[in-house]
Amino acid sequence: MNAKPNQPLDFDVQRIRTDFPLLGRKVHGKPLVYFDNANTSQKPLQVIEAVDRHYREHNANVARAVHQLGEEATAAYEGARDKLAAWINAASRNDIVLTSGTTQSMNTVAYSFALPRLKPGDAILTTVMEHHANIVPWQLVAARAGATVKAAPINERGELILEKFFEMLTPEVKLACVTHVSNVLGTVNPVREIARECRRRGIPLLVDGSQALPHRPVDVQALGCDFYAFTGHKMLAPTGTGGLWAKREHLQSMPPFFGGGEMIREVRFDGTTFAEPPHKFEAGTPNIAGFAGVGAAIDYVQSIGFDAIRAWEHELLAYATERLREIPGLRIFGEAAEKEPVISFLIEGAQATDMATLLDLEGVAVRSGHHCAHPLMQFYGVPATLRASLAFYNTREEVDVFIAALLKVRKLLM
Ligand code: PLP
Repeated sequence: MNAKPNQPLDFDVQRIRTDFPLLGRKVHGKPLVYFDNANTSQKPLQVIEAVDRHYREHNANVARAVHQLGEEATAAYEGARDKLAAWINAASRNDIVLTSGTTQSMNTVAYSFALPRLKPGDAILTTVMEHHANIVPWQLVAARAGATVKAAPINERGELILEKFFEMLTPEVKLACVTHVSNVLGTVNPVREIARECRRRGIPLLVDGSQALPHRPVDVQALGCDFYAFTGHKMLAPTGTGGLWAKREHLQSMPPFFGGGEMIREVRFDGTTFAEPPHKFEAGTPNIAGFAGVGAAIDYVQSIGFDAIRAWEHELLAYATERLREIPGLRIFGEAAEKEPVISFLIEGAQATDMATLLDLEGVAVRSGHHCAHPLMQFYGVPATLRASLAFYNTREEVDVFIAALLKVRKLLM
């Protein structure tokens, strides 16, 4: 049962693991196997130390202070914007709004872009495989405007039915929203093709990049979308960090959503004027230390390189999938032709939450539940699944421990 480790020569996973202190801990007396990476990733020392250093040496508020510390804090915060812009190939650093994560990014687009444009009878098109963050903000603004939210269907393999999606891009659709990678199924959507069809019809496209950025290089200009939302904590950075990339013309035309300090040019009771984008969308004091961590996270990923990360993660995905298929009564949800390392599954006769609780006692952390994707659960007719989501710091040996734990737990529950 224990297949021989077959590590690519240039990928020293054991060395990489030494950068992640948390991976060395025990849970319920067992070595931790952390397979909940789609929920949030663990953080390398480089990120932890960047946050620690910020508070020890540089802590001050951004933009407001002309003193040395203020300049240093601003350099870390704005430096993260520069790194993010280069990382996703934004045309300008000013096209990146720094947010607390995808959820804030989506709500910014919902209230600043969609709501002012929606009229009664209009629609927003999304898909059945979306996270609630890519559904509920659209429902909230659609309800205010008398518009509706439509969802394009998927097939049993968990792939978007593209012809249907394109058919549903009718003239009343004012915004299309699709995830780059599904957090439940791992499905990679053909975003370039979707963007091309949206452009042909003059419909702006928002892409939820939450689960894509941790696993693949992203070039927002090459993708051809209008908005790209992402979160930092799934890609090694601290919680409460993320961003929204948008085409300049949209950021220029969008009114601000949050008001307050930092986002104004001049405040007067006879008419306040706003800062240029991206600052007009960044009211209040941001998560400065968190963004110092974002900069360190990007440096860290770049020091390993996506070629190596992808090769390793895909080897792990193939191995874990093959091992799971050996288990009788196990059903995998999401068998798209192109996937990232996320595997949702159920074992006949066992509740997902019971299994996750017992797996935890074996030191194995997986997620159980609806994964903030109720419509997807409704599509498959199940209340919940178990989800093992992998990262480049995971190993084949951990997959073996996970499978052995699953077999043990299955026996207990049968
Ligand atoms: N979209 C997807 C696909 C996700 O997986 C998540 C988080 O699980 C989100 C959006 C929301 O991200 P956040 O909670 O960081 O705002």
